[in-house]
Amino acid sequence: MTASQPSPSQAPPFITALRCLRCGREYAPEEIEYVCSCRPNQGSDLGTLDVQYDYQAIQQAANPAQIAGDPDPSIGRWWPLLPIARRESLSPLAVGGTPLFHARRLGEAIGLPRLFIKDDGRNPTASLKDRASAIAVARAQEEGRPIIATASTGNAAAALAGQCAAAGQENIIFVPKSAPQAKIAQLLIYGSRVLAVDGSYDDAFDLCVAACQEFGWYNRNTGYNPYMTEGKKTVSFEIAQQLAGGGEAPFQAPDAVFVSVGDGCIIGGVHKGFKDLLALGWIDHMPRIHGVQSTGSPALYRAWRQGRELPEPVQATTRADSISVDAPRDAVKALNAVRRTGGAFLAVPDAAILKAMLPLARQAAVFAEPAGAAAYAGLLRALADGLIQPHETVVVIVTGSGLKDVKAAMEVTGGVTVIPPTLEAVREALKA
Ligand SMILES: *Cc1c(COP(=O)(O)O)cnc(C)c1O
Ligand SMILES: [Zn+2]
Repeated sequence: MTASQPSPSQAPPFITALRCLRCGREYAPEEIEYVCSCRPNQGSDLGTLDVQYDYQAIQQAANPAQIAGDPDPSIGRWWPLLPIARRESLSPLAVGGTPLFHARRLGEAIGLPRLFIKDDGRNPTASLKDRASAIAVARAQEEGRPIIATASTGNAAAALAGQCAAAGQENIIFVPKSAPQAKIAQLLIYGSRVLAVDGSYDDAFDLCVAACQEFGWYNRNTGYNPYMTEGKKTVSFEIAQQLAGGGEAPFQAPDAVFVSVGDGCIIGGVHKGFKDLLALGWIDHMPRIHGVQSTGSPALYRAWRQGRELPEPVQATTRADSISVDAPRDAVKALNAVRRTGGAFLAVPDAAILKAMLPLARQAAVFAEPAGAAAYAGLLRALADGLIQPHETVVVIVTGSGLKDVKAAMEVTGGVTVIPPTLEAVREALKA
């Protein structure tokens, strides 16, 4: 590959190394781009890299009070902890800074007075993926890469498309042709070149890796590009800051977090974010992290139950398209997130996922896409299993907006009744 690497002067200042989670080898940041050379490059066994930071140097450069007082609510406020050389490299399409609601009505209904919802559907392209794509585009711009590509179930691509439009960056997207219309519409309207693959997400993933190798494009693929975790971790930074309240140091970690899981990159990012804060001494404990999968796409849930190091691939069939994955690509980070924090994986049927959209919308006013509602369905499961105590502070991360998949909302509500334009018809309808 003819990748132009960043020169030292434009390297992110606080990154010390990239460490392979498979063989332990450490690389200098300019030495490697995606995955370790030990990788057999099949399915979930990728040789994923973890980005390492000099926390002492970061403590000299930043502190919680100063960050909390930053007038910019977007992820730029965390830039010493981001893998970019300059804060200004982030595109003008600001991501992050999403609300953390104290969901009192919903929480009381299930006996959890301290239930909070992090509504990441309120990012610019309406999913948490904006946090990662912002980093991908900033890095591509810093390195002067002409084209970025990604494979995606839809949201990562929509996020990349939006960031590229904001930055004027050319991009090519591989999605399974079955991706929901709204997500494909986002790609088209932002002007991406879209290749709808007649195959699964996993097929699109492998094709994108091969095309990037062939044509020298910058690859944003989840679980392959190590820096995507570093964007996604900002959701944990925000949760800890928002739970602390008025901007005073230190930040505060919840007792438990729930997040839905496909490839495992988001949950790995959630873990990394809290680990960073703990290493800096900015929080005093780790939350237990809970990963929620559909019983129709349970590769990581099964690996966790069976005590396996890596998941066996499944034939994913879930209706929650964003978490429909045969061979999770960020398996090591995902399993570490749950195992090292004393959390759990939960598997919930699609019917429970769709049903969870209703209380989220009706008692907390958060309209989630199925993969977003899955996290709440997982919390209900965990409550039933006795994994959560009533006094605990619990955060459910809603990863994507319900407007992404209007069909699911119509299905779960039963849709509308059409009436003729007469008062008689209104009377009849009220009786029903
Ligand atoms: C991508 C995505 C997920 C799953 O994230 P992974 O990193 O694949 O585990 C969950 N919810 C939504 C809305 C997503 O877009
Ligand atoms: Zn390795």
